[in-house]
Amino acid sequence: MDIKRNHPLNRLLRLINLFVDIIVFRNLEVKWRLLLFYLGTLLWFFILAAIGMFNLASFNYNSSAIEKISRQDKVSQIITRKIRGVNISAHDIALFKDHYIVQQQIEKGRNRLEEVNEFLNALSEGGYVRDSSNDVRFVFDQINVTGVSEDRKSFIAEAKKKAKSIGEQFENLITLKSKAPKDEADIDMILKRIQDIDKEITDMIVIFGEFSLVNSKQMQLKKDDFTFRIVKYSVTAMTVSLFMACLLLSLYLLRLYRSIMEPIKMIISYIRQISAGGITIAGELLHVGEKGEIGELFRQFKSFTEWFININSFKQIIEEDTKVEDVFFRLAAVLEQKISINNFTIYTVREKTLMSATHRIPQDTPILCNKEILTNRQQCRALQTGHHISSAEYADICRLFLCPAEKGYYCVPLFIHGHSVAVVQLIFDKADENDMNSITTKISTALHYIDASLSAIGAKKLQNELKELSTTDALTGLKNRRHLEQYVEIIVSGVLRRKTTLAIFMCDIDFFKSVNDTYGHDAGDTVLKTIAEVLRGSIRDSDIRVRYGGEEFIMILPDVENGGSIEKMAEGIRKKVENTQISIGSTTLKKTISMGISEFPTDSDNFFEAVKFADTALYQAKQTGRNKSVKYTADMAKDA
Ligand code: GH3
Ligand code: MG
Ligand code: MG
Repeated sequence: MDIKRNHPLNRLLRLINLFVDIIVFRNLEVKWRLLLFYLGTLLWFFILAAIGMFNLASFNYNSSAIEKISRQDKVSQIITRKIRGVNISAHDIALFKDHYIVQQQIEKGRNRLEEVNEFLNALSEGGYVRDSSNDVRFVFDQINVTGVSEDRKSFIAEAKKKAKSIGEQFENLITLKSKAPKDEADIDMILKRIQDIDKEITDMIVIFGEFSLVNSKQMQLKKDDFTFRIVKYSVTAMTVSLFMACLLLSLYLLRLYRSIMEPIKMIISYIRQISAGGITIAGELLHVGEKGEIGELFRQFKSFTEWFININSFKQIIEEDTKVEDVFFRLAAVLEQKISINNFTIYTVREKTLMSATHRIPQDTPILCNKEILTNRQQCRALQTGHHISSAEYADICRLFLCPAEKGYYCVPLFIHGHSVAVVQLIFDKADENDMNSITTKISTALHYIDASLSAIGAKKLQNELKELSTTDALTGLKNRRHLEQYVEIIVSGVLRRKTTLAIFMCDIDFFKSVNDTYGHDAGDTVLKTIAEVLRGSIRDSDIRVRYGGEEFIMILPDVENGGSIEKMAEGIRKKVENTQISIGSTTLKKTISMGISEFPTDSDNFFEAVKFADTALYQAKQTGRNKSVKYTADMAKDA
């Protein structure tokens, strides 16, 4: 089934993936992991704090509710006490005849009733209550009371009615008493009133008794509620939350620790593998695909390892290469294929002031430098200064670069022991310079490879120079016998394979000893050098000339045409020597050579036997008058 990107199911899957990634810490930057841990810790602190706050609030709410009821209860008790006082006043009014006492009790009773009404109002509406004694003028208590709840309002309403009725009866009693009872009927009336007041007061006491009962029940309920519900539940909630917080935070921390430490340990083990057992890593590099710093660490490590492995194998390969040219060839291949530099030239230094563009990508395109540098390499700014020359630093830094408007360049001169060997010129399109990062990376990678090749080039050059020294004759610059011995097999097998003929010219200077004797040893050396130079110039570069002995030279000419032309060539050489003027100090002399000629494999299919035959022919030349060339013939062997 093809699910499009924005399909709700697909989006859901992405969300699930994201959630799983977050849960297992994959693809999250370390800072987000730490932030999540911090937020998780905060969340649990909040949960615990919320439970604690809720407990305190409930405790406060419950205790203030209990406190309210208890104050109301206290006020109700004061009312009971006051109403009892009214009862006492009523009795005293009825009982005493003394006008002063009666008057006093009337006043007390009225005061008490007034207070009762005041307290009852406070109980129904809320207010400030002062409990004081009428006798001793002493304030027992001051209570700030709130109005009773709806369910107890009926008690207060009832009590108010009773208080009103008591008040009326009390006033009635005062009226009866003020008339001064005259007979039994008057006293009965008073007693009857007293009984009524007693009854009403008893009713009122009963009302407040019940009110008190309800109050204490409510208080008990609040207390129970607090103890059993809130305390029990909140302690449980606290314990569970604390346990969960500890468990989850520990798991989270463990996971966080592992998610950071495991990759670090892995990198350490990879590095150990590399440093202990060579340059490869056993197994896949894990975590490479992850996002965030860990993934980045692994990607960087991977590219570093690849670079390290590549550069090491590059070094190994070029070390085993035999020629300097091979090293340049491999360097060019790396620049093109591994580093993807698609425009560069390697100029290699040749003899004298020359330089050639030996490796060029793209191939067969003209070089982008003024051709002058090829004949006079000191014109090349990189070689002249010995510095890396970059157009990114200064646009027109090299005046010999031909298209500075479209292309940028980075030229690296290669020097070995102070001698220039090459220039690597990397070229970039100016249009690509926006992507400076990738260009800089390519250049720095290229520099690593150039650096690595430099030591191999140096070693090979040194090797070649040593080899050259050991196979070259110091006086004449011609090759020596060792060189001939080294290459003889290659030369011979080539001639046999191609089924061609190889000519051997054995030359000896005539009466050379007399030069030494007449002009001295140095003059002899000059003669040797001059004749060697003549011999060098008279045959092809690919032919071999060797100083065979003191004043003997051998020339090996592979792939010559046989049948007369060899003798002609030998004669030509002989004549050239004969006509060469050799200056020795103020005088000039001419010297001649004698030559013996043989052919391989015509005269012998054994190369050194053919050499010996050339020597035999030379002997013949000497014997028959010198300054001549003699071709070996089979009958000479018999004479020798
Ligand atoms: P011939 O015509 O028979 O070859 O006579 P020749 O004098 O050339 O031959 P001979 O073999 O008698 O003398 C060769 C001399 O070459 C002897 C030696 O002192 C001299 N010689 C060999 N090597 C050198 C060298 O490197 N420098 C100089 N100056 N003389 C050398
Ligand atoms: Mg000689
Ligand atoms: Mg000789």
